[in-house]
Amino acid sequence: MDIPVLIYHQVTDDSDEYTITDCHCYTNNFIKQMEYLKSNGYAIITLAQAIDNFKNNINDAQPRVILTFDDAFQSFFEVVYPILNNFGFPAHLYVPVHRIGGYSSWMKKPKSQKNIMNIEQLQEVSHNNIIIGSHTLTHTKLTHLEPFHQLKELELSRKILESYLGTSVSDLSYPHGDFDEKTLKFVADVGYKTAVTCNSKFFNRYDDSLSIPRIYITQQDTLEMFISKVQGVKSLTGFVA
Ligand SMILES: [Zn+2]
Repeated sequence: MDIPVLIYHQVTDDSDEYTITDCHCYTNNFIKQMEYLKSNGYAIITLAQAIDNFKNNINDAQPRVILTFDDAFQSFFEVVYPILNNFGFPAHLYVPVHRIGGYSSWMKKPKSQKNIMNIEQLQEVSHNNIIIGSHTLTHTKLTHLEPFHQLKELELSRKILESYLGTSVSDLSYPHGDFDEKTLKFVADVGYKTAVTCNSKFFNRYDDSLSIPRIYITQQDTLEMFISKVQGVKSLTGFVA
């Protein structure tokens, strides 16, 4: 069965004119979305489990969803992590490694920039159902870099995360969803097992595990629109899975 891989960034109570609304979800809406998944029998699984299901031809009626969070903002630790813990849901979290304990300096408007989680927080969540992946070192568009630097962003970010966490790191999220054929080769060479993009459709057994599509959940999504997105029917925004 095809699986929606949801992409979130910030989840907070407030937003202002500097908030990037496509990358923001209100806390109350997020809780309602998780409640919907729980009460409607969704299994929240990991990318590795989805790939295993595809390989083993598991095609039962159980609906499944994968949760992913890019950028490792402080709001993940303060808001999302306790909620996921309450529901017992696993999630993938992608970290821009050179910005750990700093802020999202890649965002152009200084007032849009937000704090990024520190090492201790990453270690804590990694022990509690959160799978940490690389979001490269600096959150630069990979295809804009020379091959040497592209490789360094991919390889060093993984190594640093592994040394901080004491576990192997095999998941990647492309900054800005940006990659090309050369990037895909580097990602495979470095040894990543999965890599997520911003291509908007459901994840199915024919997709390359190094260019996994994801569905954006945004500030504009009502619960009805969220349900349409996870069910894969045409929504008010024209999205089609
Ligand atoms: Zn990002």
